[in-house]
Amino acid sequence: MDPPNPFRYRPVCSEPGCEETAVYKVAAYWSDGSHHELKNYGLACPAHRDSRLDRARKNRDALKLGPGETVGDVRLFVLDPSRRDTEQESVADAPAPTTPPPSGPTPDSP
Ligand SMILES: [Zn+2]
Repeated sequence: MDPPNPFRYRPVCSEPGCEETAVYKVAAYWSDGSHHELKNYGLACPAHRDSRLDRARKNRDALKLGPGETVGDVRLFVLDPSRRDTEQESVADAPAPTTPPPSGPTPDSP
């Protein structure tokens, strides 16, 4: 009786006790100079995106990096299993997906 789900498994929010479907991945770009990937800090539902992001940033700050390693800012990424990690779309901190596009009609349109 489950509705069709594009995910092979249901991604669940990483917040303890929360069983909402995750729609964000919390991650930071990691590199050792020759390889780069997304370092995963967990998944978040819309309600917990800010708290998970905050916790991930604290974890990232406590991370001890090896020689040549760099880690970028922790960001929210749209959870999309059809994309590879390095192709995940970053989400700006504030706007929700329902934000209308900022572009309007141009002044010189007929
Ligand atoms: Zn949650």
